[in-house]
Amino acid sequence: MTLTIEDCRYAGDRTFRIADAPTSAHMTKGDRAKCTELTDENRVVMGELQDRLYADGREGLVILLQAMDAAGKDSTIRHVMSGMNPQGIDVYGFKQPTARELAHDYLWRAARCLPERGKIALFNRSYYEDVLVVRVDGLWHGYRMPKRCLDCSEDEFFSRRFGQIRDFEEHLYQNGYHVLKIFLNVGLDEQRKRLLARIDDESKNWKFSASDLAEREHWDAYMSAYEAAINATATKHAPWYVVPADQKWHARYLVSQAVVNVLKDMDPHYPEVPAGEKDELAACKARLLKE
Ligand code: AMP
Ligand code: MG
Repeated sequence: MTLTIEDCRYAGDRTFRIADAPTSAHMTKGDRAKCTELTDENRVVMGELQDRLYADGREGLVILLQAMDAAGKDSTIRHVMSGMNPQGIDVYGFKQPTARELAHDYLWRAARCLPERGKIALFNRSYYEDVLVVRVDGLWHGYRMPKRCLDCSEDEFFSRRFGQIRDFEEHLYQNGYHVLKIFLNVGLDEQRKRLLARIDDESKNWKFSASDLAEREHWDAYMSAYEAAINATATKHAPWYVVPADQKWHARYLVSQAVVNVLKDMDPHYPEVPAGEKDELAACKARLLKE
């Protein structure tokens, strides 16, 4: 494979330029079978590591997916999920905030979805929307907040938020969590094809929203917002992975690799049974064998 998940990694040690980030690695038909096979293998490894993570209960994991519409978030989540024990993972979608959510600070709703240690939370969109759509659509101007919070330039407002997000993620790291951040980078042409398919295929109509076109018209502004957000929040402890998403099966493979790698880094272990309890296990075994 020409492109590895490490090539997609931004950890604050190099600058991310959206214009240079490929939306496709142009894999061939032959690569497809290989990718699918490797994804299947990763799913098995993921399941084993998740089982240990759950039993270990010392660390938790947040996996968040960001992307433009129709980049394949839902299907990627389905694929990742299929390798996991549902007891140890929860999925949360971050839609337009409700009135109650808007009455809190923007990290509040994310904090409510954090997993207990031993578990994984999968965020379909995330608090990064608060530095993406909120920036591109200028929503922050309408927030009900005191003047001191809003009376500044756009750059200032979002650089404060970037700082808050870095602090939030570092706080999580220092409290036993890893945060894995994935940007599914789909191209403008590929998005057009997929949006057309959502209109043409009745079973996909429900996924289409006219507002997707409005966001699409702001493509360049979104790309700049992604570039700024990723550069400001890619850190050693909470790196970003920018994954080419025009070939879905390749993106799924890369994402599965990122998940396997972070779980391996966390290195979960089954709890060791203390010597005293081992004697008890042996006694129980003897009782069962006697029956
Ligand atoms: P979807 O994920 O396609 O179902 O759409 C959810 C929509 O909610 C997207 O258009 C997001 O941009 C939007 N959204 C998510 N979070 C926020 C937020 N904090 N403020 C405004 N819009 C948001
Ligand atoms: Mg949508």
